[in-house]
Amino acid sequence: MTGNKKDKKILVLNCGSSSVKYVLFDNTLNRITKGNVERIGSPDAFIVSDTKEVCSVPDHKTAVEIILEKLFKNAIKDKDDIKAIGHRVVHGGEKMTQPSIVDDEVKSEIKKCFPLAPLHNPHHLAGILAIEQLLPGVPNVAVFDTAYYKTIPAHAYLYALPYYLYKKHSIRKYGFHGISHQFVAEKTAELMQKPLDKLKVITCHLGNGCSITATKHGTPVDTSMGFTPLEGLMMGTRCGDIDPSIVTFLATSESMSMNDVNKLMQSQSGLLGVSGVSNDMRAIIEESGKNNERASIAIEMFCYRVKKYIGSYNAVLEGADAIVFTAGIGENSSIVREKCVKGLSRIGIEIDTSLNEETKEGIISKKSSPIKILVVPTNEELMIAKQVQILV
Ligand code: AMP
Repeated sequence: MTGNKKDKKILVLNCGSSSVKYVLFDNTLNRITKGNVERIGSPDAFIVSDTKEVCSVPDHKTAVEIILEKLFKNAIKDKDDIKAIGHRVVHGGEKMTQPSIVDDEVKSEIKKCFPLAPLHNPHHLAGILAIEQLLPGVPNVAVFDTAYYKTIPAHAYLYALPYYLYKKHSIRKYGFHGISHQFVAEKTAELMQKPLDKLKVITCHLGNGCSITATKHGTPVDTSMGFTPLEGLMMGTRCGDIDPSIVTFLATSESMSMNDVNKLMQSQSGLLGVSGVSNDMRAIIEESGKNNERASIAIEMFCYRVKKYIGSYNAVLEGADAIVFTAGIGENSSIVREKCVKGLSRIGIEIDTSLNEETKEGIISKKSSPIKILVVPTNEELMIAKQVQILV
């Protein structure tokens, strides 16, 4: 049976290293269903949709097969019922600056960026290849996390390395979490009842990965992540900004290979490395409440660094209109939000303590605060579906 064009659905897939998240939208972008397959490749893999079921998931192709099986049982009649599949792709390099219908060239560009996003791009491509086989003829659209930043000026994206390295290897700031920052910036304009092209917004995506973006009149002008998602804020397990000399110092003094130093900075640092407790902010806050000093210093460091970026992006924007918190920590931790903007009343940023406690979405600053503070739950899947809708 061929799906009525008007009723066709959009499937969004986000293939991570050991998980695949999916959301199915109807033609008007209302969510029909969602779920995720977790722990791909491990014996205790499972799928969560309405219920949680343990299943054998050796690889991403099987994960996609299981997801489709579920969808065909409950939500989709046949493949003609699907208008297109949107894929989150973390790194699009310098070439992929727009959401794109996947063809051989797009796949080749995603592959070229494997060395720049080794934990992400190979899995995105695996998901695309799997669904191409399973649903031949249904268009796939790649939506790139880096694409949002195509407007960042050269003085912000270049590193102060010899210029030929930029020309030879495209070593520059790319920026990540763009899909989330774009969604949150647009939603902020809606909540403030002002057009985005009249607003200067600092969006703080504080999750397991963390980044801050300055968006001026709808156009991003700087962001904290860089050549890879390692630069910038302190994160769950990533160190963020450090003195680059530490890399060579560690290699020599700890006799570590470059690979080991990279692993240390990617997966043993950040909140986990400093606190020694966890990469999970909830657990760290709990430990800090029990007078665990390292947990407390990890929280202080985390918030201090967000505050420094807010100050610097306020300067970059020559005066922001709004500071917005999103993602797991940003949406849920009033303690973190309060610390990140503490003492900034002199520069026009004043949080309202009770609004900060109560608000799930909306303004949390005092009425008198010239720069508004907001909480906005992110929705990357909806943003991807919107982009697919525009393209297909
Ligand atoms: P995400 O990557 O967006 O899923 O965010 C994950 C992070 O959000 C983890 O560090 C969680 O501990 C954190 N998180 C979720 N809920 C809360 C909460 N209520 N308080 C503090 N952190 C939270």
